[in-house]
Amino acid sequence: QRTARRILITGGAGFIGSNFVHHWCRRYPGDRVVVLDALTYAGNRANLATLERLDNFRFIAGNICDRALVDTLLVDEKIDTIAHFAAESHVDRSILGPGAFIETNVVGTFTLLEAYRQHYTQNRELISDRGGLFLHVSTDEVYGSLGPNDPAFSETTPYAPNSPYSASKAGSDHLARAYFHTYNIPTIITNCSNNYGPYHFPEKLIPLMCINMLLGKALPVYGDGQNIRDWLYVEDHCSALDTVIHKGKPGETYNIGGNNEVKNIDLVKMLCQLMDELAVDLPVKPAEDLITFVKDRPGHDRRYAIDATKIKTELGWQPSVTVEEGLRKTIRWYLDNQTWWRPLLSEEYQAYYRQVYA
Ligand code: NAD
Repeated sequence: QRTARRILITGGAGFIGSNFVHHWCRRYPGDRVVVLDALTYAGNRANLATLERLDNFRFIAGNICDRALVDTLLVDEKIDTIAHFAAESHVDRSILGPGAFIETNVVGTFTLLEAYRQHYTQNRELISDRGGLFLHVSTDEVYGSLGPNDPAFSETTPYAPNSPYSASKAGSDHLARAYFHTYNIPTIITNCSNNYGPYHFPEKLIPLMCINMLLGKALPVYGDGQNIRDWLYVEDHCSALDTVIHKGKPGETYNIGGNNEVKNIDLVKMLCQLMDELAVDLPVKPAEDLITFVKDRPGHDRRYAIDATKIKTELGWQPSVTVEEGLRKTIRWYLDNQTWWRPLLSEEYQAYYRQVYA
């Protein structure tokens, strides 16, 4: 018999966070789920609209840097587990303005850890009885860039972040680790490869390409398009995090990935072919005619690849969605949910877009 949890999910209105909130509410309807999200440009309360009528669900619009708010929430809601997704997450934006990344990713994570430390110390037995822990959701980008023949990143690969985004995530990972070793607070870190799927903000590679194809706009590919990313369907990431929360060992790090290394240009071509097949009235067909190579991103990591042996062998997790299946599902979602993404192409977004792809 599983003990019901009371879980605080930060960043639950963002891409992975909202997929995770849906996953958790579906699988564990008896758990109390509290979402804390500042609703930045990347957060969208509408992602959780269908959950708001549930008695066990509560949404709070607020900042993880607000210590008094976090303290109150942990105590009032008797939280045992934190799943921490809230972050500034986009590399291109971190190049234009790194300040917000330090504030949310480093100071925000520190604030949450401090609040959890106090709360945990005062309620140690209750929280450990319920298997409570602080799950810090992070990225493979902290490991830097791989050469073509290097082995994939493992949990012991040294950190070598190259962008302000990955540097800020690296800082927050180190804090989560230190809270386990210094204060004996049960923290676990997960480092996952690139995700894709529903509710992904238009600025990221896969939604950007899908949306531009539907609008008949150029498909900007950085540099020579040979950069390699390791792709994981977001639902597989959520199932991995679920497994880590239930079976992971405090103080450990788990890498999460699906063994799907693809060159950016090949991914874009795959998307074009699937879009040609799935969308009835594309403005430009074949969509590949829209591919345009643009000036490379500064400090652009060449290759990421994740070795997920540890989570597979120690915790028994497996991804279940192939890249082709995942891309099909994702394209269908963007075709069927135009009322979700069209309003996100705001003036602010257009201004950002012009700056990046100038
Ligand atoms: P996202 O940008 O889509 O969502 C981030 C959410 O955090 C938004 O809802 C935003 O409103 C909220 N937020 C931002 N600053 C906040 C603050 N100060 N206080 C409270 N809420 C705040 O990001 P995502 O892609 O869903 O990523 C979620 C987490 O997963 C991040 O920590 C990211 O580093 C990590 N991650 C992402 C990927 C990926 O491919 N997207 C891969 C591995 C790890």
